[in-house]
Amino acid sequence: MSSDRRPLLARAFGLRIALWYATLFVIGAIAIVFVTYYLTKISLEQRDHQILQSKLGEYTTVYARGGFDRLAATVRAEQQAAPERLFVRVVSRGVEAVVLSNPNGWDPSKIETATLALDDGTLVQVGKSTEAREDLLARFRAALGFVTLLVVVIALGGGWLVTQSAVYPIRRLTATVRRIIRTGRTDARVPVDDPSASEGNQDAIGELTALFNVMLDKIEGLVAAMRGALDNVSHDLRTPLTRLRGTAELALASPPDVERYREALALSVEETDRVLVMLNTLMDISEAESGTMKLQREPVRLSEVVERAVDLYRDVADTKGVALNVAVGADDVTVNGDRTRLAQVAANLIDNAAKYTPPGGRVDVEVRREDSRAILRVRDTGPGIPPDELPQIWTRLFRGDSSRAERGLGLGLSLVKAIVEAHEGTVAVESEVGNGSTFTVSLPIG
Ligand code: ADP
Repeated sequence: MSSDRRPLLARAFGLRIALWYATLFVIGAIAIVFVTYYLTKISLEQRDHQILQSKLGEYTTVYARGGFDRLAATVRAEQQAAPERLFVRVVSRGVEAVVLSNPNGWDPSKIETATLALDDGTLVQVGKSTEAREDLLARFRAALGFVTLLVVVIALGGGWLVTQSAVYPIRRLTATVRRIIRTGRTDARVPVDDPSASEGNQDAIGELTALFNVMLDKIEGLVAAMRGALDNVSHDLRTPLTRLRGTAELALASPPDVERYREALALSVEETDRVLVMLNTLMDISEAESGTMKLQREPVRLSEVVERAVDLYRDVADTKGVALNVAVGADDVTVNGDRTRLAQVAANLIDNAAKYTPPGGRVDVEVRREDSRAILRVRDTGPGIPPDELPQIWTRLFRGDSSRAERGLGLGLSLVKAIVEAHEGTVAVESEVGNGSTFTVSLPIG
């Protein structure tokens, strides 16, 4: 119901703007037409008035000089020649009225007169028909009426066309949003008229459309990453959970024996702990990889974090007979990062080095600044990593063939890589079988 009404509303919106513009346009046009008509009317009236006044002046002069006969002769002569046919009347001392000129067929109601009293009491009156003027004004009115009608049509039609083209991109945006709501698919995009236009060259709606598409890209990326993370986590947890179930099933299927049950339960607890650690680490990796990990960023002195991690592993290394050395330069290497997550990076690398290096070996941890990058390097004299395994060590749950004897989930390096990349950094490894491994983390400074 509401989705049926929306296009109507959008159309009404366009129509409303069109009507507003048309109304303003028409009011303006009508005002101009009125002023034009009024000024024309006034100037025509003034012209007639001037003609009357000048003729009156002329006739009174003639009358004053030559008397009635001279005036009568002048008027007659003029009436025959002049195109301007006037009504002329002389009223002698208020008694006798002599009409010198009265063109036939004049409508007395459409005569405009001017009168002048002479010194001797004679009145000279000149009249002019207003018919021609009124006829002209009537034609002018008709023409202006037609023009006004034309203006209304153009204003409405033009306004409608202009607003249609202005509202069109909004409608496209609405259509895309509606499609996404209906289908749940975020791969729909709003068509862009000129994709090559730079941000500054776009109008407001073009910019909104472009930003809307960028937002959709972002949402789609996040949804895909979260879906992938969920797939990975559920896939990765299947094996340990199946193992857990197998242990319990085996215990139940065998003859009742408290000792056997106890053993199965202990195994289950151990396996459950592994699953929990695994679940947490997998979630961390997925979050870091998809960009949804919340990093509590602050200026962190990398040497401080690394020294603390080294302290944690010192006992383990000592017990095993591995020399653990740390070299933090005098440089103040401060990165803008999440202290806890960076500590996890250092701890995982040091843990691996100490774990895989046999007794008598050594682990060197170093923090330094190189070309405005913060570098953390963990070098060991362990067995090294075979070249065919090297590309895989960053993969989730991968464990080297010769490493299976050591504890581990195969998630440490994946987490290191995910966290470092979430900090816009890189991590690399150099390793040669028999010659130890060197892990180098590089982070932007500041
Ligand atoms: P885990 O150590 O739990 O097996 P990791 O993700 O930390 O998992 O490491 C993946 C694999 O990379 C290890 O199984 C091991 O084969 C190899 N590896 C990592 N660090 C070292 C190292 N310092 N020396 C030798 N091999 C290593």
